[in-house]
Amino acid sequence: MEDNTFFSEEEEEFGENFRRFLVQRHPNPERIGCPDSSILRDIAFRRKIAPETIEKVVAHTMKCSECSRDALDYVAEYEEHKQATAE
Ligand SMILES: [Zn+2]
Repeated sequence: MEDNTFFSEEEEEFGENFRRFLVQRHPNPERIGCPDSSILRDIAFRRKIAPETIEKVVAHTMKCSECSRDALDYVAEYEEHKQATAE
């Protein structure tokens, strides 16, 4: 049994803070060294990707505000998609 209603607000707030933190911390407006955004999407959607590719992309994302923001958006999209298909 899973009950995540208790934490939902805190989690949302955490997500927002995390997003702001990343955006301020590692701005990369020129998208230097960024992977293709479709790869970020594939990872967020748990598609099959080579582990070394995931490792590389995740390592980059931790140091890149732009990719972090994209990744968070794709994760949100995935969560929505999951909920939509669960019903
Ligand atoms: Zn990037």
